[in-house]
Amino acid sequence: MSLFQLRASSLAVVSAAALGFLVVPSVALTAQKAPIQIVADLTDAPRKLYHAEIDLPVTAGPVTLTTPEWIPGNHRPTGPADDITGVVFTANGAKLPWRRDDTNLYEFHVTVPKGVTTLHAHLDCIVTARISQKMAVLEWEKLLLYPANIPVKEIPVQPSLKVPAGWGIGTALTPEGSGAYPVPAAGSVTKYAVTNVEQLEDSPVIAGEYFHEFALAPEVSPKHFIDVVSDSPDDSKLRPSVLAELNNLVREAGTVYNSHHYRVYHFLLTLSDVAGGEGLEHGQSSDNGVGEKGFADDAHQLGESDLLAHEFTHSWNGKYRRPFNLYQTDFEKMQQGSLLWVYEGMTQYLGNVLAARSGLKSQAQYRDMLAMSAAQLDTKVGREWRPTEDTAIAASILRGGNPAWSNWKRGQDYYQEGELLWLDADTLIRKLTNNKKSLDDFQKIFLGKGGDTGPEIVTYNRDEIIKDLNEVAPYDWAKFLHERVDEINPRADVAGIEQGGYKLVYHDKPTKSETTLYSSEGRRAGIDVWYSIGLRISAEGVISDVRWNGPSDKARLAPGYKVLAVNGHIYSGDALKDAIKSAKGATDPIHLIVQADTFVTPYEIDYHDGEKYPALERVDGTPAYLDDITTARTKTEKAPEEKKDNE
Ligand SMILES: [Zn+2]
Repeated sequence: MSLFQLRASSLAVVSAAALGFLVVPSVALTAQKAPIQIVADLTDAPRKLYHAEIDLPVTAGPVTLTTPEWIPGNHRPTGPADDITGVVFTANGAKLPWRRDDTNLYEFHVTVPKGVTTLHAHLDCIVTARISQKMAVLEWEKLLLYPANIPVKEIPVQPSLKVPAGWGIGTALTPEGSGAYPVPAAGSVTKYAVTNVEQLEDSPVIAGEYFHEFALAPEVSPKHFIDVVSDSPDDSKLRPSVLAELNNLVREAGTVYNSHHYRVYHFLLTLSDVAGGEGLEHGQSSDNGVGEKGFADDAHQLGESDLLAHEFTHSWNGKYRRPFNLYQTDFEKMQQGSLLWVYEGMTQYLGNVLAARSGLKSQAQYRDMLAMSAAQLDTKVGREWRPTEDTAIAASILRGGNPAWSNWKRGQDYYQEGELLWLDADTLIRKLTNNKKSLDDFQKIFLGKGGDTGPEIVTYNRDEIIKDLNEVAPYDWAKFLHERVDEINPRADVAGIEQGGYKLVYHDKPTKSETTLYSSEGRRAGIDVWYSIGLRISAEGVISDVRWNGPSDKARLAPGYKVLAVNGHIYSGDALKDAIKSAKGATDPIHLIVQADTFVTPYEIDYHDGEKYPALERVDGTPAYLDDITTARTKTEKAPEEKKDNE
């Protein structure tokens, strides 16, 4: 732990006086220094290339410049050093030699000749994601170069931007002058106000031919916008119901979090089957990527229903309030994940709750998806060896990767474990206070600390969480958190569901929401017979995961095997489900013909309990806190065509 971290963690519990100290006063610290000038050229975006011209104020002698390694919000070192190409340094028009650092591959060493005060750098970045023929997302780390070993908030930088003719620009950066923002004149360069490297990295840009900007909840200050680009002209014209729900979201968040920590907020949304899915939080914006039809109708929207609410919540929980060890003063040092069950886990909870309160999904859909999440955790056998905190500490090695045996390995479970934990805390507070107080009161304290601020970072540790929870409802919160986060728990924490007036049950038919999510409009592929025979399997029959100790594990099946036939029929999802149904109460096992590598072998699954799909069932006579939690706090707006399935 570095000196800075020690200082941050000990101050984080001291409250208001300490808050001022930890806040990042960028302007005062950097007023004397000339800013780096960076011109990002996106005109080659359709060829998946970005270019940058960078002017760095320097003095003569050796300088070390760096590109970012640890990208905030990614929870792992994803800096694009390997995609940066065509690097040329010049001074007064003459090329200068450079050498990469031998141990830190993100750093360039250059010797600046006498009398030179501006070092020019050109670089290109090969872009492989968040880009299509009609749109581009610029995360500034792709083009950034700045002095190494200085806190990035102390390095002033002025960005400018060139986009293809006719493309609109969405960003939280402040444009300078009176250009034709957000759709600049062809060939023009849009210049933005001076900021610092920390803030620039946190201020992505989306640009596209089919661009729409909508103002949200216009009576709310500061101002909120959603900027949308899409591959087809119609997709970026969001449905009136979606806009009404986003107006609700802005109002609901401001009410519960009791503050704003941005000068303006821009939801940035791409709709493309090419540019890829994304959800990355920033202080004053969020980068959201969904499929082309992601918000085109209620069925598509269900799979994305919490995305915007989740990333928006991060402006408070994650960007403003940041775990002390996840915050580093530069992008070189490792960002440590041990408190991600707050950063991501509480955001997972709040994002789903806000989505339900705003109408982005119905209360019934909220419950259906909570059931799916709780059931999945409850059958994750890896919980027998690995505590939730370890999934957070190991976040950077758990992200992505092969799904094989992932229920035995566990993944980034701190998201969904956190959701159950904070639901447990919310319903417990309600129980302790006879429903007079809730986790909303905790958010007002924890996220609202300091009132309205600009985009700042205020760190916290576990002690502060415990102190703030005690302020809402006295309880042994240290023990509560320790038992759920640090200890091995063979079963998932469903106490919140039960205190909320429901119980997790299994039916022989999937809920309406699960059916929608696995339909052609929903984005989930394959079939899920996890809670019966213990398989996740693609439409083509390839097994992605086998439930450890489940019936298919006992039959010695494995991820990667391909099911060719079921009970004498060629494999299909329906044939497998029919086989599970007809084996119910019978004695004959389910017969499979399976291809493993280049071998074909028969297998038998000895399972006779029928199909099983998770759902929440109301427990009559108990307080329905779960319904209270998902009820809007503000007067909600409804668009005329909106008819969500509230069964
Ligand atoms: Zn998140």
